[in-house]
Amino acid sequence: TGLKKYFPLTGGLFGRKTGELRAVDDVSFTLRRGRVFGLVGESGSGKTTVGRTLLGLYPPTAGEIRFNGRPIQHLSPRERSALRPQMQLVFQDPYSSLNPRLRVGEAIGEALLQHGLCPPAQVRDRVIETMAICGLAARHYSRYPHEFSGGQRQRIGIARALILQPAFIVADEPVSALDVSVQAQVINLFSDLQQQHGVTFLFISHDLGVVEHLCDDVAVMYLGQIVEIADRDSLFRRPGHPYTQALLAAVPTLEAGRGPQVMARGEVPDPSRPPAGCRFHTRCPHAQPRCREQAPALRTLGPGHRVACHFAL
Ligand code: SF4
Repeated sequence: TGLKKYFPLTGGLFGRKTGELRAVDDVSFTLRRGRVFGLVGESGSGKTTVGRTLLGLYPPTAGEIRFNGRPIQHLSPRERSALRPQMQLVFQDPYSSLNPRLRVGEAIGEALLQHGLCPPAQVRDRVIETMAICGLAARHYSRYPHEFSGGQRQRIGIARALILQPAFIVADEPVSALDVSVQAQVINLFSDLQQQHGVTFLFISHDLGVVEHLCDDVAVMYLGQIVEIADRDSLFRRPGHPYTQALLAAVPTLEAGRGPQVMARGEVPDPSRPPAGCRFHTRCPHAQPRCREQAPALRTLGPGHRVACHFAL
């Protein structure tokens, strides 16, 4: 709730602070257990920073993160370390996070041993079980990361996160480096994990098409803020924010009636100097003088559907 993450900007000969990058600027949302929450936006929107702040990789500048109703900031160091395996990250490029000298089975089982979550004698069985859930055969256990394709490496990355039986997983652009045909397989795996194993995901993506296939709830971010948040059906059937409409217009579809065909003008502004008023006004085809002066607050458009635009209907 009210999550902010600002990074200092430095410059000059002595590396003096010259400003700050408001990567996440007052963001609030709730992840519901067993559901997939999609966080969408272009690069520079702050979506990755949200994911990393939730995982405790960045301390928040302000705001509160609650886990099972309890503010994480108020937990004791012991409680926090017990919480760590509960929250896992799946990277865009799993290869960079895999030790090339470690066999894949060992890489997947490593964290179980580190956290003391399984007697060493049982680790191999747990790894093989988790590999099977992720669509990897037991014979892959002794192979090295370089022997796998991009899609298989992503399955390894997912198995590494899943083996800890986390309460939730942040998946940061997990399919954007994959071929389209492989993307579909990995998305199906996420979907199975959610439906059959009740895993909760924060799924970060720049691609609304991917999000539509997988996510139950969606928040659209622009320059550090959420501009629209809704359940999937409301967002895709009735997108209220011109930015969401522009993102949707860029997704190829055979469906008619997906709302107005809006095109955003120009490029995303420098996130360290976001425009005053509505941050989208420099690109919005519907911008009015009021938009340049007054920042729109999120307001309710329908049940669970909120939009930050002065003129959304
Ligand atoms: Fe566009 Fe104005 Fe709405 Fe911002 S508030 S999205 S500039 S119409």
